[in-house]
This record gives sequence, C-alpha cells and structure tokens, in this order.
Amino acid sequence: MSGNPALDLAATVGSRRDEPVDLLATPGDLERWVARCGELPDRVTADPATFESALALREAIYRLALDRVLGRRFDPGSLAIVNAAAAGPVLTIELGDGGLRMSGDLRAVLSHLARSAMAVLADPHACLKECGRAGCTRIYLDRSRGARRTWCGMDQCGNRVKAAAYRARRRSGRRDRGDGLAHPGGPA
Ligand SMILES: [Zn+2]
Repeated sequence: MSGNPALDLAATVGSRRDEPVDLLATPGDLERWVARCGELPDRVTADPATFESALALREAIYRLALDRVLGRRFDPGSLAIVNAAAAGPVLTIELGDGGLRMSGDLRAVLSHLARSAMAVLADPHACLKECGRAGCTRIYLDRSRGARRTWCGMDQCGNRVKAAAYRARRRSGRRDRGDGLAHPGGPA
C-alpha cells in the first residue's frame, strides 16, 4: 500500500497524530507482519531485544520519511538508527521458477528494511506523500503518472473520503429542502 516495505513498516502505527494505533504490540505481531510482507522471508523469530530494535527502526524510518515529506533536514538520531540497521547481516536471495525466495533472521530483515528505506529516501525523484485522508498518517510512495495519487489506498482511505463527502452532500441537500427526505433513488 505504501509502495515500499520500509514505509509499510512505518505505517504499522496508524493515526499517529490523533489516537495512534500500534499493530505491532508483541514480537508475535512482528513475526506475522514479516510473514505477510511479500518482499521478506516467510518465517522469522522475534526475540524481545530484536523486537525493540525493530520498533526503534520503525520510528526512525517514519521520522525520516516525514522529514522528506515536509522538506526538512533529516533528524540525525533517526539517521544513526537507520544507518546502523543497514550495516547488519543481509538476507539470502535465491532465484527460482517461483520467483525470489528470501531467507534470513530478523536482524537481516531489519537490515533489508533499512536499506529499502535508504533507497527511497535518497532518491530525489521519489515522490513521498502523506495520505490525504484526515487522520490517516500513512506515508506512501506515489508512482502514478504525474504523481496524482491522493490516498494511501482506495479501500482504506479514498472510498471512505468519497463516501463521507457524499453523505455530507446528502445531509446538506436535505437541510436545503427542509423536508428531511433523501433524494428518491439517489445518485448512481
Ligand atoms: Zn490513508
């Protein structure tokens, strides 16, 4: 959804400014997140210390991505965390008829995520945006032609914004007529 696994990791905290929702509450949550991420090994084990490192890396990636979105200089502390993680062991990649197979432990996963973040943060042509839905703080990579994308995803946010706008129009339409009735049939 973010177009980059490091940005997807950063987005495991939702609604960061209002009421943050953390999807990675336990090491098991992180193991399941890694397994679901297409670019990462199917199975890793998260010990408590590496889990804490993953959360620190996540916050550092988010901070640097936000710095990019806002056109600020990178936060030095967050740079140090991402650079240190990237210096860790690397994932093993094997090519087969089924595509790529990745293997390695969680430290190698964190290193891969840090490198992935670096690639996007260092790319002057990468268009990073924050989702246009108020309350959604996901930062995504806009690869659309002309960089016209407004939301992190249609299902998560675009359709919700459009449905809310439609309901608001209907409400104001009813108020204008003062009859309290919905439009017969309603718009298509
Ligand atoms: Zn969104």
